[in-house]
Amino acid sequence: MRREVLQQALTEVRAVYAELAKRPVTRNCVARTECCQFQLTGLTPQLTKGEALLAAKGFRATGRKELPEAAEGTCPLLKRETGRCLIYAERPFGCRTHFCAAAGGPYARKEVLDLIRRLEDVDKKLGGDGPRKIQAALATALKEL
Ligand code: SF4
Repeated sequence: MRREVLQQALTEVRAVYAELAKRPVTRNCVARTECCQFQLTGLTPQLTKGEALLAAKGFRATGRKELPEAAEGTCPLLKRETGRCLIYAERPFGCRTHFCAAAGGPYARKEVLDLIRRLEDVDKKLGGDGPRKIQAALATALKEL
């Protein structure tokens, strides 16, 4: 992948996250990390290619190369010792619009549909094939960085 294509994609994904943060829908994530334990929620975040590349970049910035072994049904980016997300600032869209009742419940799709479309556009430009489960999306993105 050409460097400038990657940079443009990462810039657009960051812009989508920044736009989401400005939406007048009150959410209060206090990092309880229940949503990072998919076996509890029955839901696994799905990442478009741009989101996966940004998350992979955030992961590499921690100095790590390989995804850690994760317990079955737990996000590989949840740091076991601290119970914190390793890439919180770069976490995917689904981790920001989550279903966590304590944080205010899920966004209605219509509240964020324009942002989802922008992420889908980035995915297409990068030759992605739509959202994929976080584990698979990250593994591929780490190889492509
Ligand atoms: S990327 Fe971070 S916030 Fe999202 S599920 Fe994984 S540990 Fe949780």
